[in-house]
Amino acid sequence: MDRRDLQQTLGRLLGPAEAEVDCDTCFDQLDRYVELEVEGADADAAIPGLRAHLAGCPACAEEHESLRALVAAERTD
Ligand SMILES: [Zn+2]
Repeated sequence: MDRRDLQQTLGRLLGPAEAEVDCDTCFDQLDRYVELEVEGADADAAIPGLRAHLAGCPACAEEHESLRALVAAERTD
């Protein structure tokens, strides 16, 4: 069992405290989420559950950080 499986198992055991997307959905929506975030739009309202997923998933959180840095850098010039 890798770390991600463990997280998902724990998530199931603990039950959904709030709606949360899974890694596949996170991956699909992350580009859009980051765009909205960098624009200053309400990314959490547009894509519910994604922030909750990032909080509990180190792999996606890391992806989110690097993507946000990339998008922010593209917008500075
Ligand atoms: Zn994830």
